[in-house]
Amino acid sequence: MRTGDQYRESLRDGRATYFEGERIDDLPSHPLLGQTVDFTAAGYDKYHDPSPGATSPLLAVPRSSDDLRALIPMLHDAGMMAHVTSTSIQTLKTAAGRMQDARPEYLERMEVYIDDAQARDVRITQCITDAKGDRSLPPNKQDDPDAYVRVVDRQSDGVVIRGAKLHITGASFGHDLLTIPTKAMKTGEEDWSIGCIVPVNAPGVRIINTTYAPRHDDTRSFPVSSRVHYPEGFVIFDDVFVPNERVFLDGETHYAAVFAHSLGLWERLGGLSAFAEESDQLVGLAQLVAEANGTAGISHVREKISEMIIHATLIRAALEAAITQCNIGPDGAAFPDELFVNAGKFHAAANYNLIVRHLHDISGGAVLTAPSPADFENGEVGPLARKYMSTGNGVDGEYRAMLMHAIRDLTADAYGGWKFVTNLQAGGGLYAQRIVTRRHYDLDAAKRKALAVAGLDEHQVPG
Ligand SMILES: Cc1cc2nc3c(=O)[nH]c(=O)nc-3n(C[C@H](O)[C@H](O)[C@H](O)COP(=O)(O)OP(=O)(O)OC[C@H]3O[C@@H](n4cnc5c(N)ncnc54)[C@H](O)[C@@H]3O)c2cc1C
Repeated sequence: MRTGDQYRESLRDGRATYFEGERIDDLPSHPLLGQTVDFTAAGYDKYHDPSPGATSPLLAVPRSSDDLRALIPMLHDAGMMAHVTSTSIQTLKTAAGRMQDARPEYLERMEVYIDDAQARDVRITQCITDAKGDRSLPPNKQDDPDAYVRVVDRQSDGVVIRGAKLHITGASFGHDLLTIPTKAMKTGEEDWSIGCIVPVNAPGVRIINTTYAPRHDDTRSFPVSSRVHYPEGFVIFDDVFVPNERVFLDGETHYAAVFAHSLGLWERLGGLSAFAEESDQLVGLAQLVAEANGTAGISHVREKISEMIIHATLIRAALEAAITQCNIGPDGAAFPDELFVNAGKFHAAANYNLIVRHLHDISGGAVLTAPSPADFENGEVGPLARKYMSTGNGVDGEYRAMLMHAIRDLTADAYGGWKFVTNLQAGGGLYAQRIVTRRHYDLDAAKRKALAVAGLDEHQVPG
């Protein structure tokens, strides 16, 4: 297994990665992006086992609901790069289980790759979302055929791919890019039905990074986003050669959606489990700030916090049901229940704005205007800031300001804005979760119940 330092060194591999107009040749020493390297390295060190042949528990394949339950908090603890890596591995496992009649070499290559990834202790990111061009048109009708990643050349030992995958979380900070179709493909779209693994430093790969990381010298007013930030990558494949042994799908349109659905399941499980944690944090912040403001006993504030509690509890219930009711694939790998994952993720994302509205409503304007920690240290204004930020009753003004900073950082600043959009879009928008939920819900059973309650027989249903 790699140590944090070995991970840092592994990023100095000639990768072509860019930030705000400049190529960054040494990611670990970059003042901002290097922080992400450090968070990821800390995750490596925390789970490092020096025993020969040891593999990381973060890259393990769960085999039961207990395994799944144990894996989720570990991934949250080790950080985003561990999460996207695990999701990539589980995606391949789940897809392989659903492609049992595909070309045997695809299934074998996926198995070999998973073993290899575990042995090398790599970090893998998920490249699924294409540039997509005109959303109303399929890949083969676009003005630019590169709007979806496609095969532009087939050689005896591999394929050459071209296109771009956008918004890829942590793309510059991993070793391999799991590159799969973003949607179902039809006959005529064989060239766009490509699933493969591409090393980040492969010739022709270029990644443009964006980040919400705070740019301030003193980041104490950003207690959340200064602690963890993982840039998204705009990943360009400019005629990249992929050897056959890393190709898991090439031209079989009927399997294109299997990868997208498998990844969607795991990505939404990650989203749902993050919502479960973060909803509790939002409830906690609402209660703490209400207590600090002296409003915790006021009826409308209590009602809002009760609603937040109900929201947090339902999310946790959906997560628990998704794990408990997990399914076991043909080779023994466990995967969470589709219905509970998708309904839970939809519910959490669709109601996030309401929950944050309650938090902002309870908190007051100091969410945006509380003096910074450095202001409290100023000899002239510090004591006055403390005095006027205090609400009496032993509430320290700086303590109350720090609660406000946490709320602003989480919900109302660069990271907060990132979260608003990410909660809706990451893992596919609400539309995708609606479709999958409907597909897995037993609508016939619901109709039978409706007929029974109405005192009607099935044969009376028209058509
Ligand atoms: C912070 C962040 C991190 C992300 N991380 C990753 C990642 O690691 N890997 C990855 O692959 N992706 C990632 N994504 C991408 C995410 O999955 C997409 O943003 C999402 O699937 C929507 O795609 P889009 O952004 O292209 O928007 P669009 O596809 O343009 O969607 C915008 C809206 O249009 C609707 N729409 C679009 N096309 C159609 C259509 N044909 N029919 C009906 N409705 C349509 C959508 O439902 C949606 O409501 C991330 C996104 C964010 C914001």
